[in-house]
Amino acid sequence: MSADEMTAPGLASPTADAPGSDLVLTGVTKRFASFTAVDNLDLTVPQGAFFALLGPSGCGKTTTLRMVAGLEEPTAGRIRLGEQDITRLKPYKRPVNTVFQSYALFPHMTIFENVAFGLRRQGKSDVKQQVEEMLELVELGQYSGRRPTQLSGGQQQRVALARALINRPQVLLLDEPLGALDLKLRRQMQIELKRIQTEVGITFVHVTHDQEEAMTMADTVAVMNGGLIEQMGAPMDLYEHPRTTFVANFLGQSNLIRGRVKGVDRDTVVVDVQGSTLRGPRARAASDGGEVWVGVRPEKVFLSHAGTEEDDTNALRGGVVSDVSFIGVSTQYLARMPWGQEIMVFEQNTGARERFSVGDPVDLHWVPEHTFLLDADQDALAGVELEGV
Ligand code: ATP
Repeated sequence: MSADEMTAPGLASPTADAPGSDLVLTGVTKRFASFTAVDNLDLTVPQGAFFALLGPSGCGKTTTLRMVAGLEEPTAGRIRLGEQDITRLKPYKRPVNTVFQSYALFPHMTIFENVAFGLRRQGKSDVKQQVEEMLELVELGQYSGRRPTQLSGGQQQRVALARALINRPQVLLLDEPLGALDLKLRRQMQIELKRIQTEVGITFVHVTHDQEEAMTMADTVAVMNGGLIEQMGAPMDLYEHPRTTFVANFLGQSNLIRGRVKGVDRDTVVVDVQGSTLRGPRARAASDGGEVWVGVRPEKVFLSHAGTEEDDTNALRGGVVSDVSFIGVSTQYLARMPWGQEIMVFEQNTGARERFSVGDPVDLHWVPEHTFLLDADQDALAGVELEGV
């Protein structure tokens, strides 16, 4: 790691409070020899947003972040922060700071001095109050005299955060900042990070391959794949309205069943799936003609013992339970359908639902509003193996 990467002090001019400091990437491309890592990216991150770049390993998210930090120069395109064009500005001249997974704390300095570092570099001597406020913000006030090795991983990451935030950057870049923490601590830190971002109001751009992490914290998530943004939106919007098979599979899990559109009945698309008629709202149809993938999330599907559910709306009959996994809060079933496909069904363990065993004949159904339809030209398995990589 270079000195720029470790220290980029984010000279706070103009400050985070300056109005109209959206981060705008226009046609940003990065090529390494003949390989295109980031392909003609257009992106606006509104000032004060908690924005996540989410995607599998190698999709170009870190390269994008490094171009915003000034650690990589775009092959083409422009990066603006408010009125300022920062495309070719030196990293230390950008009002941007980065927090890395590796913390990069100075081991020989106390926590207080680590956090004070950026201010001292700017020539400030009266730093006590600001450092103490920052340590309070990350709830480490009582640890100011310790050295980094005397803190836990989560605490060290909070020091790294305080050290970056004290410079009052306009944009804080977070590159898999929780990657080194165990799962429980990660979940705690996600809530912490969200609280801190709300409190300081600085734009956070967070890079992660963990979809749950992105959805927990960010108000806007951009799903990246192969150097491109596949889809961008609020977490719930992305989850409920995936427009590609990659997004449907990478963000949570989806059942995608081959079907053929029979017709459109006002706001509803009617699809034939292996002789059964399924319906879905037109508003959730990325495709409403010809061959389609009929999508439904596993938690939206209900299982019933074969022949016990008379309602034929969005019913698929003739399944056999092929796997049962009890995972505490829910039970995850696989039902093998007559055409050989296994459909996932997640049922909450509320105690109110029936239980099923391997070999049970079952029917599946769901309310039409929970159907989404995707273009059948896409690979139904796109993004499947990549989840959580
Ligand atoms: P990860 O989560 O694994 O870091 P990522 O989505 O952040 O993945 P990038 O680090 O942005 O991906 O890399 C995107 C692609 O560009 C990868 O295929 C990577 O091998 C390639 N790449 C990145 N940096 C360089 C470089 N300096 N020289 C050549 N290729 C590079």
